[in-house]
Amino acid sequence: MAAFLQLSDISKRFGGVRALEHVDLVLEQGEVHCIAGENGSGKSTLIKIIAGVQAPEPGGRIVIEGQHYPHLTPNQSTTCGIQIIYQDLSLFPNLTVAENIGMAQHLGSPHLVDWSEIERIALGAVERIGANLALDRKVEELPIAQRQIVAICRALAGDAKLVIMDEPTASLTRQEIKTLLQLIADLKARGITIVFVSHKLDEVLEVADKVTVLRDGKCVGTFSATGINDKKLAFLMTGKEFHYD
Ligand code: ADP
Ligand code: MG
Repeated sequence: MAAFLQLSDISKRFGGVRALEHVDLVLEQGEVHCIAGENGSGKSTLIKIIAGVQAPEPGGRIVIEGQHYPHLTPNQSTTCGIQIIYQDLSLFPNLTVAENIGMAQHLGSPHLVDWSEIERIALGAVERIGANLALDRKVEELPIAQRQIVAICRALAGDAKLVIMDEPTASLTRQEIKTLLQLIADLKARGITIVFVSHKLDEVLEVADKVTVLRDGKCVGTFSATGINDKKLAFLMTGKEFHYD
């Protein structure tokens, strides 16, 4: 498989805090790649660099589909087909599902908003994943799990090649997590590359092809999910052996 994205020697400092130190990451096209690590290990900073909202220190390299970038702007990241779903989802609560999904394609367009076009885009994205969403409901009326699906549909409407989800399961029930993991498997089957950021070991191993472990801003390594278990992963994330009494 070809690499969709390659990061090499990525470092980022915030004052005295070394959020990332010499991190490497390769994302193959069509894989589910989990970024695992404890709170503060640098997971969100890494994806913000991929989103182009944070610039790495000079010296790092970013290659996307063979194109080299010293760092990315948000616009370049989007143009490369990268869509990020942040933990807060960044939806407009008082707009409808259709508006949330279809509007992003219109922002910055000099044309008047074409409502039938927005509805067409939204319907296309919802049908692509077979989601059961009422397009005319306001997002604020939906439970969190459905808002998550709205955010995924919005990413798909943006012609995503890579969808990055930052801690997507944080406020979901076990059943909702199952639905989301199934949706991730469906996206993968369509050739979309998925990055799934999490610190929950069980779901990491359930959904991922590969796991990259961060600890204190350093990359511990990238592992095949089949060659690793939760105990080993916990050790890699914390550096501590776990003993069960
Ligand atoms: P994670 O997502 O794994 O919890 P983060 O990438 O959010 O970790 O944070 C990594 C480290 O960088 C933490 O010590 C955090 O406090 C620090 N950090 C992240 N963003 C900023 C920022 N904008 N300003 C200052 N420190 C930050
Ligand atoms: Mg985070």
